[in-house]
Amino acid sequence: MEAVPQNIVDKFGRVHDYLRISLTERCNLRCFYCMPEEGVALRERSVFMTAEELVAIAKTFVSLGVKKIRLTGGEPLIKKNAEIIIRELGKLPIELTITTNAVVVDRYIDVMKEAGIKSINVSLDSLKEERFNDISRRNYFSKIVSNIELLLKNDFIVKVNAVIIRDVNDSELVDFVQWSKDKPVHVRFIEFMPFDGNNWDWDKKVSYKEMLEDIYNHFGEGEIQKIEPKPNDTARNFRIKGAPGTFGIISTVTNPFCDTCNRIRLTADGKIKNCLFSEDETDLLTAYRKNQPITPKILDAINAKHKELGGHEKFTNESVVLLKNRSMITIGG
Ligand code: SAM
Ligand code: SF4
Repeated sequence: MEAVPQNIVDKFGRVHDYLRISLTERCNLRCFYCMPEEGVALRERSVFMTAEELVAIAKTFVSLGVKKIRLTGGEPLIKKNAEIIIRELGKLPIELTITTNAVVVDRYIDVMKEAGIKSINVSLDSLKEERFNDISRRNYFSKIVSNIELLLKNDFIVKVNAVIIRDVNDSELVDFVQWSKDKPVHVRFIEFMPFDGNNWDWDKKVSYKEMLEDIYNHFGEGEIQKIEPKPNDTARNFRIKGAPGTFGIISTVTNPFCDTCNRIRLTADGKIKNCLFSEDETDLLTAYRKNQPITPKILDAINAKHKELGGHEKFTNESVVLLKNRSMITIGG
């Protein structure tokens, strides 16, 4: 019998031990940078993984050395059976975590604790109610803020993701950092990335360098400590001296971290995307439903991974026009 490989390794020697699973393409918010204005077409339920299929496929990844699984979406916590998925994945020998907009997180506190989840990423792009509600095209700001408080009270590590977009929320960098000085929140500023239907423009992204300059100018260089990066970190992290929280910058556009990438993405319809920006997808769900082995498909999909940005050159206004990709909400961020 052929020996099963221990790890999922690509042709550049990168070991892939971190799986991000999208539970659904649906969402209770409508963030303009994530979802096209016209929305995404709702597809028949049968094209998506059921809870049982998702757990079975996840187990195959774990047998191939995956050590960390993040649930994402769309909004993972509005998936029917999200509770079953969290409980079942919680039994695996992995670090389980979740990225959520936190609108309904209060309903899952006990489930998440029981499943051993320690750290949760919450997306919040503005600390100003009106602005956040404009960005997300819904009115859940106060619910999200009180749910972040609830997570902190329950001793979860809370990382807050904020996509920074010029003339939208770039004036709030200092306020977010101040928040990390006052509370144990770990804010990560994300450069605005191009996806289908989000009207990305080079000038709308705020670069790593610009963000850091703004923060240094306000707090002063002497007040800011760099935090040593861990392997596979995507954010470069900092702390205001003595602060309970931290802040970091994820610079996918101006300074990608592809060299140390260990991520595999599984879409809600059961397809592997070997990079956020890859055009190729590998259909695991159909193979699984036909009782075909999925391990060779997983290994081939990762072996075909490009060195950088899914095989694209650095993004420019001209190159993104040719970019063929799903919208972020249907990939799973
Ligand atoms: N609904 C959940 C949430 O918002 O946290 C999970 C899914 S969401 C697609 C995952 C992450 O992708 C969020 O932190 C969101 O801010 C980020 N994201 C979405 N579109 C993006 C874009 N165009 N550029 C950068 N980050 C983006
Ligand atoms: Fe929904 Fe998250 Fe996308 Fe916002 S970023 S529309 S919360 S999936």
